[in-house]
Amino acid sequence: MSANLRFQVVEEAFKKKAVEVETPKERPSEYFGKYVFNRQKMYKYLPADVYAKLIDVIDNGTRLDRSIADSVAAGMKQWAMEMGVTHYTHWFQPLTEGTAEKHDAFVEHDGKGGMVENFSGKLLVQQEPDASSFPNGGIRNTFEARGYSAWDPTSPVFIIDDTLCIPTIFISYTGEALDYKAPLLRALHAVDQAATDVCKYFYKDVTRVKCNLGWEQEYFLVDEGLYSARPDLMLTGRTLMGHESAKNQQMDDHYFGTIPDRVQAFMKDLEIQALELAIPCKTRHNEVAPNQFELAPIYEECNLAVDHNMLLMSLMKKVARKHGFRVLLHEKPFDGINGSGKHNNWSLCADNGVLLHAPGKTPEENLRFVTFIVETLMAVYKHNGLLKASIMSATNAHRLGGNEAPPAIISSFLGKQLNELLDHIETSDKDELFNLKAKQGMELDIPQIPELIIDNTDRNRTSPFAFTGNRFEFRAIGSEANCASAMIALNAAMAEALTDFKTRVDALIEKGEDKISAILDVLREDIKTCKPIRFDGNGYSEEWVEEAKQRGLDTESSCPIVFERYLDEDNIRMFESTKVMNRKELEARNEVKWETYVKRVQIEARVIGDLSMNHIIPVSTHYQSQLIRNVQSMKAVFPADKAERLSARNMKLIEEIAVCTESIETLVDELVESRRVANRIESIHERAIAYHDTVEPKMLAIRKEIDSLEMIVEDGLWTLPKYRELLFIR
Ligand code: ADP
Ligand code: MG
Repeated sequence: MSANLRFQVVEEAFKKKAVEVETPKERPSEYFGKYVFNRQKMYKYLPADVYAKLIDVIDNGTRLDRSIADSVAAGMKQWAMEMGVTHYTHWFQPLTEGTAEKHDAFVEHDGKGGMVENFSGKLLVQQEPDASSFPNGGIRNTFEARGYSAWDPTSPVFIIDDTLCIPTIFISYTGEALDYKAPLLRALHAVDQAATDVCKYFYKDVTRVKCNLGWEQEYFLVDEGLYSARPDLMLTGRTLMGHESAKNQQMDDHYFGTIPDRVQAFMKDLEIQALELAIPCKTRHNEVAPNQFELAPIYEECNLAVDHNMLLMSLMKKVARKHGFRVLLHEKPFDGINGSGKHNNWSLCADNGVLLHAPGKTPEENLRFVTFIVETLMAVYKHNGLLKASIMSATNAHRLGGNEAPPAIISSFLGKQLNELLDHIETSDKDELFNLKAKQGMELDIPQIPELIIDNTDRNRTSPFAFTGNRFEFRAIGSEANCASAMIALNAAMAEALTDFKTRVDALIEKGEDKISAILDVLREDIKTCKPIRFDGNGYSEEWVEEAKQRGLDTESSCPIVFERYLDEDNIRMFESTKVMNRKELEARNEVKWETYVKRVQIEARVIGDLSMNHIIPVSTHYQSQLIRNVQSMKAVFPADKAERLSARNMKLIEEIAVCTESIETLVDELVESRRVANRIESIHERAIAYHDTVEPKMLAIRKEIDSLEMIVEDGLWTLPKYRELLFIR
C-alpha cells in the first residue's frame, strides 16, 4: 500500500511552468476566421453566380439549389488543399453530448493506377455515416432504414488539423431528427415565422427575425497528473469522494485574484485557436471556485453560436492537454463548492435592426417591447416544466438546486422597472392606457423606459431566467450541455406563444377593434395569466419551493421524472404545432435521455464500488493495523492502566475505522444489489427512476463514510489526491 503516486504527481504539478505560447504576428482581426470558409473565401473561391446563390441560402433561408453543390464543393476543396487539408468529415451533434465525425480522405483512384483528390457536391451535401452506434431511441435500428447527415450551409465549414469539417444535421431516412441541429433549425425557423408575423404590427418592412445566443462557458482546470491519479475524475468527470478542503472559496480570493500563469498561457492559446476558427472570444475571467474559469464570446446567430460552443468545448479539451491540464466540463466536479453552468443570453432581432427584447424610445416601440417580453413570459410559464427538462441531465442534476446554482424551479426575474411597467398595463383600464384622439391618431400611455434599463445592474443571481436589459439570460444550462437542447425548447415555445398571441389579436381586429387596442387587450390578459412565472425574490429559499408549488410551477427535482415533461400532451402539441418535433421523435429522444442517465449513474456506481474496495478499505485497514500495533506496544512498555489511558484515542480511531469500513462494505453490497434489481426492469423509464431512487442514495451514503475516513487516516497513506491539491495547484 503506498501513496507514492499521489505525492509524485503533487510534486510534479508544483514544478510545472507555463507553456510558452507564441503571440501571432498578425493582429486578432487579421487571423480571425483563418480556418473558416467564410464569406471572403466564398467570394474568392466560388464563381460569382454560385456565390450569390449560396449567400441567398444563408441570409434568406432559401432552398439550396443542388446544381450549385458541385461548384461549392470544388471551391471548398481548392481552399482546403491550399491549407494542406487531406481529409473531410461531416461534423454533427448526436444525442450524446459532444460531436461526432468520421474522416474520409479526398483521394480516390484516378483509373490510371494513380490517385486524385476528389470532393464532389454529392459528398458535400449528403453522407451516410455508419452510425448505428449513435443513440436513436429505437427510431433507426440497425436493420431498418439508415440515417444520413446533410450539409447545413448556414454554418460555415472549417478546418481542424488536416480535416475539412462540414457542419451537418443527422436524420433518419424517414426524416426523424437523430441529433440536436435538425430540431434546432426547425425551432429557429418556427420562431422566425411567428415573430416576423407579430413584427408586422409594428414595422411593415420586417421579413425575418433572427435569434441571438451569447453563451458564457464555465469550466475547471485540473493538473493532468493529479487528474490521472483520480480514477473517479477520469471515468466519470467528477469526484465521487473527497473531503472538503479546509479552505475552499470562502475568501473570494480566487475570483478577484490574478489569473495564474499556467492558466493564462492556456487561455491565450485557446483564444488564438478559437479566433482562428471565427469563435468571437471576448471575455475571460476567474470564477468563484478555485481553479474555475469562464470564457464568453460575443453573441451570434443561435445556430452558429451553438456550433461554436461545441467546437470550443472540444478545442478546450485539446488545448488543456498541451498545457498539462485537464478541463472539467462536468457541472459539479467537486462537492461543497460551486459547480459550472453555461448561461445562455437569448434575444430576438428583426432584420430591420430592431432588437425585439430591447425597450425603445417611443410608446409604440415600447408596446413592441412589452409584447415580446410578455409573450416570452407566456412561453416560459406555459412550458416551465419542459424548459427544466431541456436543461436537465444526470450531471446538471447535481448542480441545480444547490445554493450557488439556479434552483430546480423555472421562474423569471424582471427587475423593478419592468415589473412596474407590466403592473401598470395590467391595472390601468383601457381608456387610461389608450386614448383615441380622432384624426390625430392615438396616444399610448406606456411609460418611456429610461435608457438606463439597458444597462440593467439590478441583478438577481438566483433567477434561472432573468431579464438583463435587452435579452433574457437562461442560467440553468449545464456547462457540459449542448445549448441546442434549451434553445430548441425555448424558441419553439416562443413561436407557439407568438402565434397564439397573433391569432387572438387578429380575432379582435376582425371584430373591428383598433390594432393597438387589440394588442393591449391581449397583453393585459396574458400579463395576468403568466404572473406565476414572475419571481424576483430569493430563489434559494425554502419558502420559494412552497410558494412555487402553490403557484402551480413545476418543482420536481428527480432527473428521470423531469424528463417526462417532454411527453406531456401540452408539450407534444406545442412541438407538433410548431413542426419542431413530432411525437415519435420526442418519445425516441426520451428513451435516449433515460438510457444516458442510467449509463452515467451505472458507471459512477461501479467506480465508487471499485475505489471503495481497492483503495479506501485497504488503506484504512492498513492504517488501522498500525494503530493496533501501537496499542499493543504501549501495553508492552507501560503498566496496563496507563497503557489503556494513553491508547484511548487510538482505540477510538481503531473502532471508528472499523465502523466506517464495515459500513462501506455493507453499502457496496447493497449498491450492487440495487443495481441488479434495477437492471432487471424492462422499461428504460422505470429503470432510470430506480437508478435515481435506489442507486444514487447508496452512492451518497458510501461517500459520506469515505469522507470521514479521509479525515482519520494518516495523510501519508491516502492514495487519492485530495480536494486541496486538485483545487489549489495550478
Ligand atoms: P455577464 O455580466 O452576464 O457575465 P457577459 O458580458 O460575460 O455578461 O456575457 C454576456 C453575454 O451576452 C455575451 O456573450 C454577450 O455578447 C451576450 N449578449 C449581449 N447582448 C445580447 C443580446 N441582446 N442577445 C443575446 N446575447 C447578448
Ligand atoms: Mg451572465
